[in-house]
Amino acid sequence: MNSYILSDMTWPEIESAFKDVKIAIIPVGAQEQHGHHIAEGCDSYRAGEFSKLLTERNYPSVALAPTINYGVSPHHMNFPGTISLKPETLIALLDDIVTSLSQHGIEKFLVINGHGGNTSTLNVAAEKIARDKNVSIAVSKYVDAASDVIQENITSEHFGHACEREVSESLYLYPSIVRKDKLQAAEYNDSFALNVRKRKYIKLVHQFDDVTKNGNLGDGRKGSYELGEKIINQALENLTGFIKEFIEE
Ligand SMILES: [Zn+2]
Repeated sequence: MNSYILSDMTWPEIESAFKDVKIAIIPVGAQEQHGHHIAEGCDSYRAGEFSKLLTERNYPSVALAPTINYGVSPHHMNFPGTISLKPETLIALLDDIVTSLSQHGIEKFLVINGHGGNTSTLNVAAEKIARDKNVSIAVSKYVDAASDVIQENITSEHFGHACEREVSESLYLYPSIVRKDKLQAAEYNDSFALNVRKRKYIKLVHQFDDVTKNGNLGDGRKGSYELGEKIINQALENLTGFIKEFIEE
């Protein structure tokens, strides 16, 4: 066994693994619309598959908990199929998962987030649970660990959802969710919400169909396996560096 994936292990295997494990990785995704060209599990599959690679790379110091396959997605509810948690539900889920693992001796946690809409909630959850339970919790929207590659390679004014970045990552991590014959550019609405997106210093609560008619940002046609590979490798490298320091801390 060269990777500790808790859902694939028996309790005696886990008991023995936990002698070496210092950090539990908890992936969090979403079930939400990703335009015409990526299936709705995109953020869950990406967070889960990325976390598997990160777990392998940091064997035997980390173990992978099952992915939370739902996220905070009320802004996508006007598109069919989206299933959203309330922020309080996600906080409670994470609390229960951390509490359970801490009873088995794990004191450090790395939450790998695949969905921007979860960010505020996960930050609040970490703040609350870490102090209540006296454990250490780090949260990463993992693509932020590849911001150099993203800046160099993505030129669309708006991106970040079902765009060339997510198409690229999906082609690399979980290609069956991409509809290659349906890749398209965003059809934007000329709206207040779209204009506000340009201002990185404002967070406006809005509905996603105010911004885009077909549900995606950027241009899915510009996505590629090669760009996905670059993004994932840079994120893996940076987060592996963090994990080494987190273990020592
Ligand atoms: Zn997404």
